[in-house]
Amino acid sequence: MRKLTSPKVLKELLKEYEFRFSKSLGQNFLIDDDALLSITQASDICKDDGVLEIGPGFGTLTQALCENAGKVVSVEIDKTVIPVLNENLSEFSNFKVINEDVMKIDLKNLIETEFSGYNVKVAANLPYYITTPIIMMLLESGLDFESIVIMVQKEVAERLCAKEGTKDFGAISLSVDYYAKAEIITHVPPTSFMPPPKVTSSVVKLTMRKDKKVNPKNEKLFFAVIKGAFSQRRKTMLNALSNFGIAPKDKLYQAFKNLGIDEKRRGETLSIEEFCALSDEIEKISLK
Ligand code: SAM
Repeated sequence: MRKLTSPKVLKELLKEYEFRFSKSLGQNFLIDDDALLSITQASDICKDDGVLEIGPGFGTLTQALCENAGKVVSVEIDKTVIPVLNENLSEFSNFKVINEDVMKIDLKNLIETEFSGYNVKVAANLPYYITTPIIMMLLESGLDFESIVIMVQKEVAERLCAKEGTKDFGAISLSVDYYAKAEIITHVPPTSFMPPPKVTSSVVKLTMRKDKKVNPKNEKLFFAVIKGAFSQRRKTMLNALSNFGIAPKDKLYQAFKNLGIDEKRRGETLSIEEFCALSDEIEKISLK
């Protein structure tokens, strides 16, 4: 099996297949054994697991996943990497590649047809141009993932894992916290990739919650309140929510008053429990 974390081996493959990295597809391939190990260890994969990988590239992470998992299905948008990938994974019978855009695929159907009887996990060194949409798509899919271990930009990792009252706390931190427990596993320097990206990266583990962290009466309104609260970061919650069109200002004011939450607070100071209580109260008052 070719050692794909070796820059020498990677260069040989580039030459052999006349392959050029695509910047627009976020092709920064991993060449660091420690970073690779941190993804596989955090994923804690065994033969009972079916792993969905997004963006296998030449298959560096894929090889490690195939060694431990029952089955690995990798979704790769770039058809030019497929022959290289298939060669590098030729010794694994538990591997399948799907040449598609992960944002356009019917994920529910894929999971049902490929991973019946398996615990499903996601592992990926994500393309950075599309990190947040992929994470939100996975979280909101309602699919029964056990965990999602991903390499992302460090700044994104910090926002995913941020706690209320910190500068990185925002709508995505709350969305992640609603569905999962998030932790940063390790930071990874640009030199761990070929070609090196401009930014430092981080491995993040999202362990999906069996029960959501809070139970808003109206989930759609709960997320709209979160979106509204962070739509104008410098404004007070009352103004931001009213400008966003969540409800008339007097009703919003009443909701804050009923809950004893100072309406001058800003979104980043509210906990997820407070957001839940607020959206429930807005719903109650708006229905009157
Ligand atoms: N897993 C490999 C590694 O760690 O060396 C490659 C990771 S590279 C950061 C991201 C990969 O995602 C590339 O192979 C790229 O072609 C692929 N990709 C980009 N956009 C994609 C999309 N929308 N759907 C599926 N794969 C995508």
